[in-house]
Formats: sequence, structure tokens, C-alpha cells
Amino acid sequence: MAELDINDAVMTTRLDAVVNWGRKNSLWPMPFGVACCAIEFMSMMSSKYDLSRFGAEAMRFSPRQSDMMLVLGTITNKMAPVLRTIYAQMAEPKWVISVGVCASSGGMYRTYATLQGIDRIIPVDVYVPGCPPRPESIIYGVMKLQEQIEKESLSMRKDHIARFYESLERQDALQAAKGLTSQQTIREMLMDAGERGVGTIF
Ligand code: SF4
Repeated sequence: MAELDINDAVMTTRLDAVVNWGRKNSLWPMPFGVACCAIEFMSMMSSKYDLSRFGAEAMRFSPRQSDMMLVLGTITNKMAPVLRTIYAQMAEPKWVISVGVCASSGGMYRTYATLQGIDRIIPVDVYVPGCPPRPESIIYGVMKLQEQIEKESLSMRKDHIARFYESLERQDALQAAKGLTSQQTIREMLMDAGERGVGTIF
């Protein structure tokens, strides 16, 4: 009987690499669609563009059952607390793709009522430019996210998310102390961050 060569029978790797391989190939998308960019997302999910080729076809409309939120459209200040709550409800690991210029920077809506970029209130992993971005561009964004997931360290994710939850606690405390609405509280936190020369509230 031929002897078994240990090099043919055993493969060594890192825990991070195995976990990340599984994570990047089974993303569960959840659309946060509030404007025209969401139409491109529908196209991306259907047969012509077929996101299932990238292991991300199981779309969910519950934050509890998804790990990749795609923000598609203009986020007004009124929607800001809703977006933060839904992001908080997603279980770790979770990632965010900001689709289109409206979600990424407010786009053409440079007004008092529009949030000038969702990365001011939640962590964003990938930005997809365009107005609207074509389905191919959104798919490219998903591929970029997969590349990023492949390189992540598991401990790095914990710090990243902890900062967000700390800011949520600060938001609750400020809201209770001053008797503000959640929109007013976020606005005040953004103004305070701006005075300190910081772009985000987490
Ligand atoms: S980026 Fe353009 S297409 Fe997308 S939501 Fe804004 S206006 Fe609509």
C-alpha cells in the first residue's frame, strides 16, 4: 500500500481566511431603497444581470436575516434615524454599500432636508458612483466588497462596530436628556461633530 504523503492530505490556513471565504461567498442582500437607484437594484437581482453568480441572490427584507445592506436613493434627515435603527438591527457581520451619489454625498440635493452622505451616520464599506449607477456598477461594488471581506481580520470588525453602538447610546442619552426627537438629536450630533472638525457621529 502506498504511503500517504502528509502534504497531499493536510492543508493549513488561517481561521480568518476560512471564515472570510464563507462570508464573502454567501452575502444576503437587503435593499434600503428610497428612490430611483432602487430600480437599478431590481434589474441587478433579476435574470439578465443575475447576482446569484456571486453568491448573493437570497434577498431579504428583514435586517435580522441579511448581512449586506444596499442603500439606494436619497436619504433625508427625517429618514436618518430609521437608517441607523435598521443598521443596528442587522446582526454582525454586516456590511453597507452606498449606491449612487444621493446616498454617498446627498448628490444634487444640497439642501437642509437631505443628509449629505450616509457615512455621516452609519459605517459604509463600498461606494458605487453614478446617477443612477448601472446594474454592472452595483455588481462591481459587490465584488469590491467581497475583496474587502477576504482581507478583513475578525478582531478589526469588533472595534468598527463597537464605535457605532457607542454613538447609538450617546444618541439615546442626548435625546432623553434634552427631550428632542431622534431627527433633532442626530442633527445636533452632526453639528457638534462639525464643530470638532469630524465628519461622522460614530
Ligand atoms: S443618485 Fe440619481 S438615480 Fe440614484 S436616487 Fe439619486 S437622483 Fe435617483
